[in-house]
Amino acid sequence: MTGMSNEIPTHRVVSIFGTRPEAIKMVPILRELTHRGNEFQSIVINTAQHTDLLQPLLDYFETQVDHDLGVLRSGQSLDQLLARLLNALDGILDQIQPHAIMVQGDTTSALAGALAAHHRQIPVVHIEAGLRSGDRYSPFPEEMNRRLITQLTQYHMAATQDNVKNLMADGVAEEWIFHTGNPVVDAMQSVLADMAVSPETEALLHSLEGQRLLVLTTHRRESFGHVMAGNMKVLADFVESHPDVSLVFPVHPNPRVRAECQAILHGGPRIHLIDPLVYPDFLHLLSKAWLIVSDSGGVQEEAPTLGKPLLVLRENTERPEVIACGAGKLVGGDPARLAQMLSDIDQDPKWLAEINKIENPFGDGNAAARIVGILSEVLRSGQTLPQSCEILKAG
Ligand code: UDP
Repeated sequence: MTGMSNEIPTHRVVSIFGTRPEAIKMVPILRELTHRGNEFQSIVINTAQHTDLLQPLLDYFETQVDHDLGVLRSGQSLDQLLARLLNALDGILDQIQPHAIMVQGDTTSALAGALAAHHRQIPVVHIEAGLRSGDRYSPFPEEMNRRLITQLTQYHMAATQDNVKNLMADGVAEEWIFHTGNPVVDAMQSVLADMAVSPETEALLHSLEGQRLLVLTTHRRESFGHVMAGNMKVLADFVESHPDVSLVFPVHPNPRVRAECQAILHGGPRIHLIDPLVYPDFLHLLSKAWLIVSDSGGVQEEAPTLGKPLLVLRENTERPEVIACGAGKLVGGDPARLAQMLSDIDQDPKWLAEINKIENPFGDGNAAARIVGILSEVLRSGQTLPQSCEILKAG
């Protein structure tokens, strides 16, 4: 297990995750826990909700996994996934007897981890707490997952002041909310400090020198169908009619994304459809972008951190900070609006020039140290149940 030292660690902290974006944000915290190995025993459970996208990341960050739940099955429903996760966690958590369970974000793995913790009355630490889109079906199922996780959480680690406000509006007492920043900034800083880019990505970028580089990612369930197809068509047309623009799209392995991509973008001039990139390569690609177009959650935090302009391919965003700080614009669900925005930016690039002056709303790179510091204090002081639960127990 990670975090072992000669002294006996005081607190066993179990971290549960299973997707690429969760791992990116958990790794800085796991490193910090390991660094404080005399105080914490860090135990990592990989649910393996994703495998192909996750494993290269774990390899890159040299993350040691203590338990692999292997829950991925092709075509399983969300119910089947949740049931499989709870079942797999059942025996393991009883063996470990953790003092705290940490989950990140809004996946079904995070929901299962928080629920299994609650069933054992183990305090839940929620990283990136308090994001809200305001629409229970978008992003789906993540928006409802995060609301449910809030109800199950004791220590809410909020990335931004807006997230703190959302939690308070949900009735969470201020004393249980900690404004920490988002550990994605910590992860990015460590990757950017030591950017080892693969020869393939280097060669691709070299071949595109002198071009305006459009970077696309799209894979969200809510975009499937005519919105995703329409957006791809708009992008293909824009690239075709602008000979100095190239598009690079690391295509998500989801078969529906691959099918749309094959039908609409494949074979277009100056369109490069590539496999998903390992994290340092992807950050390198983003850092060279003229414009990023994406429906990803994590990319909304990465674009302002890199000082890059982003068009958000969503109806709404749970990260309004990206719009408020000036780094992003919300496209909405109408591909005609994407076409209009591309044309406006092309004709008046003033917006692009202003972006690298913005202040990053997502943190300063010290979120992991803050989170582990808070965890140390609250666990040492024995603050393990919110008042409402004490009352509930007393009753
Ligand atoms: N990402 C990556 N390689 C790629 C595309 C994305 O490493 O080829 C990273 C990206 O930097 C971001 C994360 O994957 O941090 C986003 O994951 P995804 O889009 O799957 O999920 P979401 O952010 O929408 O939850």
